Amino acid sequence: MSDYCGRCGRQTADHAGPELTGCARALSLEPPRYCAACRRRMIVQITPTGWTARCSEHGVLTNLHLQN
Ligand SMILES: [Zn+2]
Ligand SMILES: [Zn+2]
Repeated sequence: MSDYCGRCGRQTADHAGPELTGCARALSLEPPRYCAACRRRMIVQITPTGWTARCSEHGVLTNLHLQN
């Protein structure tokens, strides 16, 4: 499980129930704003087919394909 919510940046331990469900739903549609591992702001790029979000520490997340 992630340490931080990718949408609002709260610690997932303090973030449960309907709010977390709402964030999880949003994150299925939009890129995360915060790195789930370190809470840095992600550098988000929207592309015609999806998005990429980059953490300077943890690398790139994308909905296009998985990267290490
Ligand atoms: Zn959240
Ligand atoms: Zn990170």
